[in-house]
Amino acid sequence: MYNIFMNIKQLLIDSGFRFNKQFGQNFLTDEALLNDICHDAQVNGGTVLEIGAGAGTLTRALSRHADKVIAFEIDRGLERILDVTLNDCPNVKVVIGDVMKYSMPQIEQLCGSAYKVVANIPYYLTSPLIMRFVEESTLAESLTLTVQKEVAERLAAEPSTKDYGAITVAVQSVADVHITRILPRELFYPQPNVDSAVVRVDRRSKFDISSPELFRKTVRAAFAMRRKTLSNCISVGFGISKPQAEQLLARCGFASKCRGEELSVEQFVVLYKAIEREGLK
Ligand code: SAM
Repeated sequence: MYNIFMNIKQLLIDSGFRFNKQFGQNFLTDEALLNDICHDAQVNGGTVLEIGAGAGTLTRALSRHADKVIAFEIDRGLERILDVTLNDCPNVKVVIGDVMKYSMPQIEQLCGSAYKVVANIPYYLTSPLIMRFVEESTLAESLTLTVQKEVAERLAAEPSTKDYGAITVAVQSVADVHITRILPRELFYPQPNVDSAVVRVDRRSKFDISSPELFRKTVRAAFAMRRKTLSNCISVGFGISKPQAEQLLARCGFASKCRGEELSVEQFVVLYKAIEREGLK
């Protein structure tokens, strides 16, 4: 029987498709692995938003597990391939276009209800895409993303490790993050220069953060100078004197010489609330 997953490479060659490096086109073709990713994403009915359909391999797997799949793909050259690979998937709607040019309400209108994002995303889009869905979306329940392994490690990092940084705190303040599997580079076609990992980001309202902008500013300031103490970073970031910053940290119960990377996400929330109470901007 003709199996699209097994024949995808030949289909791409026969159709004269030229891979575009700029779009991060490294495709996954192993059917069992693609089904595993659907399980990692806990897709069991419902609506899925895929970003970057590529040749439609993950899209096809998703269509078996979801009720409805909305799949964006920027490269018009893949449209005719997707017509073939998804021709028996009536629950898939392909949108040819740049997802970053669509507003969040436009994207969510296409989804029509609560949805899960599942995507093997191009490296160049990783941070903007994650931050956008984590911060702006009102209906996304979770994001299960194949990303560069280092990025997954940063998202899931613990305090006081080299991977722990501003993006870790930003994401973990509004979501639980788990790495579900590591994908060696050999699994992709064409093969990239780095290994990847699948990371699931489950959105939760974990903390009462009434000013997300001030919270982001606090986190950015704390990590802006990794070699300096937190009091130094807060003093520079918020334009207050060093003694003022030290008093503020003391009121939070933090050691005077501590560094931003030592604070847990909970402690960052404590710091942000103290900064807010102080009326700093
Ligand atoms: N989902 C496929 C798979 O797993 O084999 C393809 C993954 S490939 C890593 C990323 C895909 O995202 C490419 O097909 C690329 O053309 C597409 N892409 C890149 N930037 C995009 C954007 N801004 N909007 C929509 N699709 C994009």
